[in-house]
Amino acid sequence: MSVTVVGSANLDTTLRVVRIPGPGETVMASSIARSPGGKGANQAVGAARSGGADVRFVAALGRDADGDALLASLTGAGVGTDAVRRLADAPSGSALITVGDDGENSIVVVAGANAALTDLDENELAAVAAADVVLACLEIPMVTVVRAAREAARFVLNAAPSTPLPEDLWPHVDVLVVNEHEARDLTGAADLADAVDRLAGRVRALVVTLGARGAVVVSDGVRTSVPSTPVTAVDTTGAGDCFCGVLAARLAAGDDLVTATRWGSAAGALAVQRPGAADATPTHAEVAAALT
Ligand code: ATP
Repeated sequence: MSVTVVGSANLDTTLRVVRIPGPGETVMASSIARSPGGKGANQAVGAARSGGADVRFVAALGRDADGDALLASLTGAGVGTDAVRRLADAPSGSALITVGDDGENSIVVVAGANAALTDLDENELAAVAAADVVLACLEIPMVTVVRAAREAARFVLNAAPSTPLPEDLWPHVDVLVVNEHEARDLTGAADLADAVDRLAGRVRALVVTLGARGAVVVSDGVRTSVPSTPVTAVDTTGAGDCFCGVLAARLAAGDDLVTATRWGSAAGALAVQRPGAADATPTHAEVAAALT
């Protein structure tokens, strides 16, 4: 059971504040912390650590200290990094994250090396073609997402952050995973139920994550609600990424989409109870225990 994640890696700088500032407002932070993140890296760590799959990561990092830290975090989680490029002429991606007392966040990303992943070389394509499941996000150039989708045996797209999808990508998406904001943005529908219906009509299977309210799955025309576990969130950063990584790993293991969503949801609920993104990823044993 193998998963290849094609995506981004960022070194996160997280500021804890009482309340996320609005436009023109200044607030004082109570702490600052640097930790590994980026949607792709969080997903790869989630798949390897909580999902228990054999995971390879296709990504671009700078040849800098942030890149070294990101690589160490990935290898430490058991992610295969032979298809991770190191670039001398671009800095590693970074993100500035503000987390409020309620656990909600706001994020600004500087793409850096992630933006240079505009093609896939032979080794990277082989990593994509060999995987049971390929998972991609939209923090890398769209042309690479489309290329990976074409080569993948089974393609899971986390259409985040919100970006319009090119027409030639849709037919290759086996499972689309979006949160409720992305579902609305992709369809232009103000009503969530309407957005779910429209998206379900365009892809083979759909998962819409709803934060503390869990997720909705639409597969083979059947709509299933998967509730989340009630928990106290301290930092929701990366919950969706952890969810996607675990979901991809469980699909690779042969689970059906609803079962894989239950695993992703349990992992997401554990992740929000800890600070950080990749560092908040629970272990396979913790997720299995939460599901019993
Ligand atoms: P992010 O962008 O912050 O990484 P997201 O918006 O992509 O997250 P969410 O829908 O917030 O994704 O979360 C993914 C999953 O994690 C949810 O479907 C849910 O199962 C779990 N989860 C997230 N937040 C909570 C919470 N506060 N309590 C319990 N479970 C949660």
